[in-house]
Amino acid sequence: MRRFVEKEIAPHHEAWEKAGAVSREAWLAAGEAGLLLCSVPEEYGGGGGDFLHSCIVIEELAKVGATGPAFPLHNEIVTPYILHYASEELKRHWLPRMARGEAIGAIAMTEPGAGSDLQGIRSTALADGNHLVVNGQKVFITNGQSADLVITVCKTDPSEGAKGVSLVLVEGDRGGFARGRNLEKVGYKAQDTSELFYNDVRVPRTNMLGEEGQGFRYLMEQLPQERLVVAARSAQVIETAVDETIAYTRQRQAFGRSIADFQNTRFKLAEAKTEATVCRTFTDHCIRLHLAGKLDTALASMAKLYATDTACRVLDECLQLFGGYGYMWEYPVARAWADARVNRIAGGTSEIMKEIIARAL
Ligand SMILES: Cc1cc2nc3c(=O)[nH]c(=O)nc-3n(C[C@H](O)[C@H](O)[C@H](O)COP(=O)(O)OP(=O)(O)OC[C@H]3O[C@@H](n4cnc5c(N)ncnc54)[C@H](O)[C@@H]3O)c2cc1C
Repeated sequence: MRRFVEKEIAPHHEAWEKAGAVSREAWLAAGEAGLLLCSVPEEYGGGGGDFLHSCIVIEELAKVGATGPAFPLHNEIVTPYILHYASEELKRHWLPRMARGEAIGAIAMTEPGAGSDLQGIRSTALADGNHLVVNGQKVFITNGQSADLVITVCKTDPSEGAKGVSLVLVEGDRGGFARGRNLEKVGYKAQDTSELFYNDVRVPRTNMLGEEGQGFRYLMEQLPQERLVVAARSAQVIETAVDETIAYTRQRQAFGRSIADFQNTRFKLAEAKTEATVCRTFTDHCIRLHLAGKLDTALASMAKLYATDTACRVLDECLQLFGGYGYMWEYPVARAWADARVNRIAGGTSEIMKEIIARAL
């Protein structure tokens, strides 16, 4: 993975930032190298590994600040819905293509009127003979421009709340499905994020994942892993920023000595290193529990809450130690600072994490 990132990702990332999207070639190369769907059984074209293999993909991308390739979302956030709930036919069709990087996945939960409060979504998938007719709008969807398949969270019974929610696989080339513009974000500039529009999109009823009305339950089952993915990335981002800041402050001079010699710098770095170590230790503990099938939703929420809040705090301090250079986009710490912000929002906000944790007290 590290060799792959050095060769196929890092040299192109700046161009992808300008383009607002990662090239198809990078996805195909990742598939070719066996870095997509590493935790999916080999019989479906995956790597036959486990979540730990995916963590290596997450960490190596994070080490070089590569926020563009949404391989972690594709591997460990979208794929599980297909692997665990789709029909055998859908699995055999999509998983090998996703593993080869020929099909890019997305998950569309959020709508203009409902993000944190997912029960309030208004998109519908209503039965019509052997078809489902999907109508609605989604927003902030990662891989929105590039996705070949979108797991779309819909109401199959609009009169119900959570019990009316189902997951429907919508192919990107279906009639009536349209993508809005590629949204301009504060960070994650090489990742495409879009609005999606569904206007009488007809899909076969067999595109429903699992049982009708169970979508909310499936989301609750899979969201802890999504949160752990974000935590794993954030833990790595913190460590990388601390290492880079130590190196920078050692060589930068002011008042006849290196910045690293000022007591303020030493104390800031000591605090940052402590937070990096605590975050790493707790995140790894959660990863270990998850591998054993024992990570509960409250702990996963703690991992996301702690790692993403800590990342923002530590990166802000690191950026400060870089002075004006820290505010320049060409400096990795500047990008990391801008990129880190979204992780307190996407995948469930910090406030929602606290709600989940509080409910378990
Ligand atoms: C770059 C990016 C990528 C994303 N990718 C995806 C994706 O791929 N798929 C997808 O479906 N979504 C995606 N999202 C959407 C993201 O998950 C939502 O933005 C997030 O869940 C928050 O929803 P919202 O934006 O509607 O905010 P709101 O729900 O409107 O929240 C606004 C504020 O109110 C607070 N709040 C809401 N409810 C409560 C409460 N009960 N108690 C206390 N405070 C509360 C929130 O914490 C927040 O601070 C992405 C977002 C971004 C920015």
